[in-house]
Amino acid sequence: MAHVMDLRQRGSSPLDSPHQADRGGAAYLGRDLLSIDVEDYFQVEAFADRISRADWSNFELRVRRNTERILELLAEYRQSATFFVLGWVAEREPALIRRIAEGGHELACHSHLHRRVFTLTPQEFRSDLQRAKKAIEDAGRQAVVGFRAPTFSIRKDSFWSLEILAEEGFIYDSSIFPIRHDLYGMPEAPRFAHDYHFANGKAIIEIPPSTVRVLGTNLGVAGGGYLRHLPFAYTRWGMRRLRQEQQPANVYFHPWEIDPDQPRIQAAWKSQLRHYRGLKKTEPRLRKLLANRRFERIIDYVRRFAAL
Ligand SMILES: [Zn+2]
Repeated sequence: MAHVMDLRQRGSSPLDSPHQADRGGAAYLGRDLLSIDVEDYFQVEAFADRISRADWSNFELRVRRNTERILELLAEYRQSATFFVLGWVAEREPALIRRIAEGGHELACHSHLHRRVFTLTPQEFRSDLQRAKKAIEDAGRQAVVGFRAPTFSIRKDSFWSLEILAEEGFIYDSSIFPIRHDLYGMPEAPRFAHDYHFANGKAIIEIPPSTVRVLGTNLGVAGGGYLRHLPFAYTRWGMRRLRQEQQPANVYFHPWEIDPDQPRIQAAWKSQLRHYRGLKKTEPRLRKLLANRRFERIIDYVRRFAAL
């Protein structure tokens, strides 16, 4: 919170700026944003209390096959996307990372070990970030300038991480979910693209996950669990609302979400429900979106936003 207050005092906080939404609208060309968080089924937060990172190497890796299927799907519909890759995956599957880049997609960073930012010290966050960025850039031979925190874990208590991202060469972040949720969220944050300026002269652009505003409350829409668990009509309605607001939808999903045959991990019922329900629905729904909407890489939207 201290950082938000500092920014507000300097008058550069998006919380003070009514023009940010207009700017986001001006950068919008009718295309939505599509991103994939490249991690495997055993690395998600839902199972983090059951599976230690030291055990990751003992699990069957399915991320390569599932990501290759996503690349085929995108090629079939001639669509481009942003891939937020876990550094751990990039170190083990460099050829896959190279193929993503060769497909004309954007490589971005999803941290190295999928630890939530608010559980780390600034030093731990920075070294995890540096290792992941290097692994992804070495494998993909493409500069990495976008970040998405594991489990959208940039909140008030980890807001300091944005300044570190800017210092480490990141141009944008897509981690601050402006909703109330049991695991993540910063409900008072702006709903659309905005930027933060720091005392050291650096800045970062925030591309929030999509929400619709209903009766004064923001509801998540068009990504991951929202896409999989709720009726597809909700996604269609939400994306239509965003289009009316002249803002792109920020659609995201994970390779394990198109893999109904993945090995089952025993966990609490809520985690099981979150992870396994609706897995068969993701691919047909994605196909509908890919057939009916035009998507672009997040960096393409960010470049236009930055130029305004
Ligand atoms: Zn993740």
